[in-house]
Amino acid sequence: MANCAIVGINWGDEGKGRMVDLLTDGFDVVVRYQGGGNAGHTVINEYGKFALHLLPSGIFRPGVVNILGNGVALDAENLWREIEELTQKGVTIGPENLKISDRASLLLPWHRDLDVLEEARLKDKPYGSTKQGIAPFYSDKYQKKTILAGELFYPEKLKEHLAGLAEWKNLILTRVYGAPPYPLERLMAWIEEWGEKIKPFVSDTGAYLKKARTEGKRILFEAQLGALRDLDCGIYPYTTSSNTTAAYAPVGSGLSSAGITDVVGVVKAYSTCVGEGPFVCELFGEEAERLRKAGAEYGAKTGRPRRVGPLDLVATRYGAEVQAATELALTKLDVLSGFDKIPVCTRYRIGGKETDRFPFPAALDGAEPVIEYFDGWRSDISGVRRFEDLPEAARRYVLFLEESIGCPITYISVGPERDSIILRKRNAEKEGELS
Ligand code: GDP
Repeated sequence: MANCAIVGINWGDEGKGRMVDLLTDGFDVVVRYQGGGNAGHTVINEYGKFALHLLPSGIFRPGVVNILGNGVALDAENLWREIEELTQKGVTIGPENLKISDRASLLLPWHRDLDVLEEARLKDKPYGSTKQGIAPFYSDKYQKKTILAGELFYPEKLKEHLAGLAEWKNLILTRVYGAPPYPLERLMAWIEEWGEKIKPFVSDTGAYLKKARTEGKRILFEAQLGALRDLDCGIYPYTTSSNTTAAYAPVGSGLSSAGITDVVGVVKAYSTCVGEGPFVCELFGEEAERLRKAGAEYGAKTGRPRRVGPLDLVATRYGAEVQAATELALTKLDVLSGFDKIPVCTRYRIGGKETDRFPFPAALDGAEPVIEYFDGWRSDISGVRRFEDLPEAARRYVLFLEESIGCPITYISVGPERDSIILRKRNAEKEGELS
């Protein structure tokens, strides 16, 4: 595989961390290019079970260089806690295997405060924020009112810059929200404490990546959340505040010449959605609870029960399209074992008409799912490693998804562990056939 992006096709939580952890084997560099501490990638490997929020999932692999690109919301507090947690469990982390872009903006303490204040102001119509400060952070970044990590090397200028920002931010805190102002001394103390911790990791990662590319190193780009949460293509305003699509990887990593040839889109065998916003396929009651329990669908960051439903092919086709996915990884197929019938949403009904196109966000509220049912399978498939060894009903389900989405499913994950995977393409290449 040449340069590759691993991205979510749906609402996030598709199992991207698990796929990155598996695939980093073949890469020299892993780059996180957007998002912050608001979502979690769960990785289970020889060191234990981890919910990574900021650290790239290649951090466990010796020899892999991990980069936090300029597009991330650099939450130094959360990042440092993650570094400590992993280090305590025996993972080696230092400036040689973790590099932070000098152009990454710092998520400042007031971003979290403002996130909480705004969700409270919205009362019963919140965005469903994880309150990690992401929306206020990206708003500030686009207003050019953040601090770049590289400014830590220019303390005098940094102080002046912060004083200017504090004057502006305190107007918003006090006049818009009636909250107390943020004293400059407290901000400086925060920078002293957390900035100093991350400073050794900060460098010109754009130059590093350019060199790595020239030397023929293989680079993996890792996204957070999924296509439907993309700021420009997703279910606005219930999106995140950054671009989760593969197309943003060259910008958010600082490597314009990234030349990504492979986009692995991760799709879950059923749907989940965290937080607010339209979710056409949502199941409720006992049916929902059974699926939620089977898939352990509780937020990695918040522990919130995730909304669940059958696989939504309308949203998935759209997700694969906006991600420009060249292949798909289907995860959590094992979770569906034991269900008599497997529902799939093949179309939406909007205003009495059926459509297979994902509509404009405002039309989603009036959309109803058109459901088709597949036969389930009884046996446990978590030990299966070859496509042809899956029960016939499971194979039929996968082949139907593949055809409906219009993109090859080359990986099928049947458990959270690294080796619980059916490598369809690799097996097929060996055996000269695909299914
Ligand atoms: P991410 O943000 O896309 O990485 O997804 P999450 O970490 O939020 O959710 C994926 C969850 O499903 C994690 O707990 C994984 O360990 C787990 N998982 C991933 N793939 C599989 C699978 O094939 N089967 C099962 N049972 N669990 C899986």
